[in-house]
Amino acid sequence: MKVFDLNQDLRGKRVVLRASLNVPVASGRVANTFRIERALPTIEALAAAGARTTVIAHIGREKTASLAPVYEELTRRSARRIRFAGDVLGNTARQAVAALEDGEVLLLENVRRAQGEIENDDTAAKALAAYGDVYLNDAFADSHRAHASIVGIPRHIPGFAGPNFMREYEGILPACSPESPSLGIVGGAKFGTKEPLLRHIVSTYDRVFIGGALAHDFFLAKGFEIGKSLTSRSGDVTDLLKNSKLVLPKDVVVSGADGVETKAPADVLPVDTILDVGHASLSTLAPHIEKARLILWNGPLGNFEQGFSAATEALAKKVASAAGRSVVGGGDTIAAIQNLRLMDKFTHVSTAGGAMLQFITDGTLPGIKALSEVHNTAAVFGGAPGR
Ligand code: ADP
Ligand code: MG
Repeated sequence: MKVFDLNQDLRGKRVVLRASLNVPVASGRVANTFRIERALPTIEALAAAGARTTVIAHIGREKTASLAPVYEELTRRSARRIRFAGDVLGNTARQAVAALEDGEVLLLENVRRAQGEIENDDTAAKALAAYGDVYLNDAFADSHRAHASIVGIPRHIPGFAGPNFMREYEGILPACSPESPSLGIVGGAKFGTKEPLLRHIVSTYDRVFIGGALAHDFFLAKGFEIGKSLTSRSGDVTDLLKNSKLVLPKDVVVSGADGVETKAPADVLPVDTILDVGHASLSTLAPHIEKARLILWNGPLGNFEQGFSAATEALAKKVASAAGRSVVGGGDTIAAIQNLRLMDKFTHVSTAGGAMLQFITDGTLPGIKALSEVHNTAAVFGGAPGR
């Protein structure tokens, strides 16, 4: 990978910037600005250097989703004039790109609307690459997708890693081969998306704590009743249960016939719903957090949106004050940390969810590979060699 040098004169240069702007939108407004806050400095630095910047990004899962609310948020936050094109590969976009002058920025509409983006069709890659002389991937959080805007464009024009990309790469890298004693804490709900990471870290970490709805799958495998609790019932975790590094909650907060109470997982009744991890479990975890040299945390420990946030909050505070390195990621995890105003208390807070999990599991990502292959870019734009 080559890192792009933003301290060069970029007047007259056309830059295609792949940014990570996939943020939650509610009632037509951006509901969480974390990714926008991280993305904006790169956009502004390119503009300040005189580049003609075309920003490419996606939003949501549906192709119908629009970046218009993101554009409004960018405009609100930036002193620079940013333009918005209502399409990606159509005439409007092509003309707007061609009209860019030095220091100007153009945001294209949701790139997933472009035919061939998701399929990584080379025609789409070529058309997007035609918008620039150089490609900057600043979207680490989207780099687990082998889409045209991530892996296709650098097949056609020189590709570099942007500052945000490098911040994520270097911030998460220590979690790929953790210093001992290491502790992984995995919670949340999406067992299917977290299972590969879980299986990986039980072999590479010293201790792995399972919380959130993820733990329910393990309780089931142990033959416990989980009542009405959320479970994915997707994978078979019986083999993982035998792993001595794995730590399950020893108490849970349930809502049942007698209201909300804390009990042992083995005592959960058919009428109960498990909604959080209990106090005793956190006390058991505390000494491990204190002595860990590296802590990886992804996924809330309970249903915090419904008010069952005590365990997540206690955990966030403990990890925030830990002496070791802490790497934290996941959309909902970050939302919980933001509410607690603890964002600057961790070594690295990632904007990435799936990409972080995959990078730790595989040690690389399609977007990283794409920047490491092809073109000898350094000669063209004077990039400093990356790792
Ligand atoms: P992240 O976005 O941080 O990766 P996930 O998306 O995997 O996390 O999971 C977050 C969701 O998990 C939240 O909506 C939270 O309410 C839910 N959750 C955690 N624990 C429980 C539980 N015991 N019961 C129901 N939902 C839970
Ligand atoms: Mg989530």
